[in-house]
Amino acid sequence: MDKNKYKLLTPGPLTTTETVKEEMLVDLCTWDDDYKNMTQEIRAELLRLAHAESGYTTVLMQGSGTFGVEAVLSSVIKDTDKLLIAVNGAYSKRMAEICRYHRLPYAVVETAYDTIPQADAIEEALKADPAITHISMVHSETTTGILNDIAAVGEVAKKYGKKFIVDAMSSFGGVDIDVPALGIMYLISSANKCIQGVPGFSFIIAKEADLKETKGTARSLSLDVYAQWETMEKDGGKWRFTSPTHVVAAFRKALEELRAEGGIAARHERYARTNAALREGMEALGFTAYIDKDVQGPIITTFLYPETMSFDFQDMYAFLKERGYVIYPGKLTAQDTFRLGNIGEIYDEDVQKILQIFTDYMKGLK
Ligand SMILES: *Cc1c(COP(=O)(O)O)cnc(C)c1O
Repeated sequence: MDKNKYKLLTPGPLTTTETVKEEMLVDLCTWDDDYKNMTQEIRAELLRLAHAESGYTTVLMQGSGTFGVEAVLSSVIKDTDKLLIAVNGAYSKRMAEICRYHRLPYAVVETAYDTIPQADAIEEALKADPAITHISMVHSETTTGILNDIAAVGEVAKKYGKKFIVDAMSSFGGVDIDVPALGIMYLISSANKCIQGVPGFSFIIAKEADLKETKGTARSLSLDVYAQWETMEKDGGKWRFTSPTHVVAAFRKALEELRAEGGIAARHERYARTNAALREGMEALGFTAYIDKDVQGPIITTFLYPETMSFDFQDMYAFLKERGYVIYPGKLTAQDTFRLGNIGEIYDEDVQKILQIFTDYMKGLK
């Protein structure tokens, strides 16, 4: 029986299948071989999805996506290194905040939130500051829904021999990413985004040779990526400290369901289709999307508040929730916006229903 009162139009947590949730009804022992094998199976499957079966490794890390980003930055950037962050949203800005907490040397190249970071601006920054050793950016900026060009920046990273770190939190599994081909050294994502698991851990896909050089760099015990990796390798899938066993079981099921859907290509096709239908349908109702269609990613769309005087976000939120869908407030400071995510168990029939609810709501506003 489906106990959900509404579907989530939020990009993590998101609406998962009944079968993924059912996996969590079993209590598992963390040091038992069955559980450790489950972890190893997940690690191998993640490498397969990343086209990174040789020369790369995976580390699973307790906590939400931010824990994964913080783990990587604080475990691989040495005091003698310097990170250049391409900022065009709240999540890339958060990387700078992480650097401040850990007193890591960093610089930023910032662009407007409705534009993508330009590879030539990154290149200029590298030329101006030879101390830079690493470049980081967000792939799908969930703040706006923009899809950044990691291939162009990856080329610059390769050309200048810099290490490339990508937060692919809300794209990995929903957008095909060839990690080795893009020159990515560390990619971070989490259980409750495009792979459609439940929240509880993040994962890191890392170039093994580079990771091995980071031993002893971490500023935090629990977020030490190298130490976590070493234990997982040496002890065949053992996590350091208590792992989210129910979440891990659900994630393995979610990976199986991703495969059954037809893999990343099929999932991307569904996301892109439902995203375009939502965006076009909302525009037809008079809503304006915040970013241009040519930079729109497939997972979430930001809309400006309509100019109608009587518009009230909380009122619209409640109207939609009562009818089975929960939407997402905006994350921009300069403009009033709201967001509609379309990852998770959201299909064409949901899009039709959502657009009908907005139609009814807008009628009531006049
Ligand atoms: C979801 C997300 C994160 C992590 O957020 P948490 O709330 O810590 O899970 C980081 N970056 C991006 C781009 C995201 O979409």
